[in-house]
Amino acid sequence: MEAQCDSEGRVLLRGLTREQLTTWLVEELGEKPFRAKQIWSWLYVRMVSSFDEMTDVSKATRALLKERARIDSIEAHEKHVARDGTTKLTWRLDSGAIIESVLIPSAKRNTLCISSQVGCAMNCQFCYTARMGLAQNLNVAEIVDQVVQSRRLLGEDIQLTNIVFMGMGEPFHNPNSVIPATLIMMDRLGLDFSQRRVTVSTSGLVPEIERFGRETRARLAVSLNATTDEVRDWIMPINRRYPLGVLLETLEQYPYRKNERVTLEYVMLRGVNDTREDARRLVSITRRFPSKVNLIPFNPHDGTEFESTRRADIDRFAQILFSQGVSVTVRQTRGDDGMAACGQLGSPGERREPKRMPAPERFREALASWNVGEGS
Ligand code: SF4
Repeated sequence: MEAQCDSEGRVLLRGLTREQLTTWLVEELGEKPFRAKQIWSWLYVRMVSSFDEMTDVSKATRALLKERARIDSIEAHEKHVARDGTTKLTWRLDSGAIIESVLIPSAKRNTLCISSQVGCAMNCQFCYTARMGLAQNLNVAEIVDQVVQSRRLLGEDIQLTNIVFMGMGEPFHNPNSVIPATLIMMDRLGLDFSQRRVTVSTSGLVPEIERFGRETRARLAVSLNATTDEVRDWIMPINRRYPLGVLLETLEQYPYRKNERVTLEYVMLRGVNDTREDARRLVSITRRFPSKVNLIPFNPHDGTEFESTRRADIDRFAQILFSQGVSVTVRQTRGDDGMAACGQLGSPGERREPKRMPAPERFREALASWNVGEGS
């Protein structure tokens, strides 16, 4: 087993599944397997940050652990609470890079949106994070630690109920970290999130969707955002590699468990993907596999060429889906005053000019009339 280590060669304990932790303790430290359960509990139930707090572990073992391993892998940086309670937490990595997690509280649940990469390489045209480009992948511990340390920071009053991988990064561009991280989050002796409450959202990396279905029982969401290749090729360049036909076929073949449905995320872009025909095509798509649709009003940001569909038009779009028996929700826009809304992660200082894809001919006039031009 190859454990992930920091630059000083210390093993990142929150980067190991319980099975891997057991193997490491037995093979590398000569401990008995029961020790893993104790340490696991300190890592994820009591969420300690130092070995000295592990009071039922012998002094000699603690000394060895201090030398060979490490508990926290990220460091709390800043916390910003928006008027509606949405809380942006930023973390510093060993590399010095800053990543973000966002707590989205609501009456029924407290969802933590976490990051899987620093920046993103996918270049979705409506996304603010895309403008950072990809700086680095997070390791398993850096992903898991966002959950542990958020829990610690938020205290007893706010119980996290749901985890979504919808922060910075394309999770399936980093599957070797993301998949084990979901297994650690769902471990019943540790963080104990139910598989229905851990959702990974992808822009549509087909081979990794298949792998995800085989290796974890966490839930899948696909950021669909268009019903034709013409539009999807433009706003989500990954569609040029895995076009809609291939993506939808993959979702038909996906190994759905009992009562499982894939969530189709659909960012509403005015005049781009919000026509009646789009709604009808979306209805047809949802008939092909177990699914539900989440309509997301677009959050405009500096330099974007897009506008959000107006609220009344989003409701009309939702009504077409609903009348055809599609399970559909409209996401509330949250946390705008702290740039903690979807697609707005990453600090403005790290931005560069968007790498614009050419818009299909029929959209060019509309883009010009929005007075922002189409870019290069
Ligand atoms: S929407 Fe997601 S996959 Fe697309 S560029 Fe943004 S972070 Fe990456």
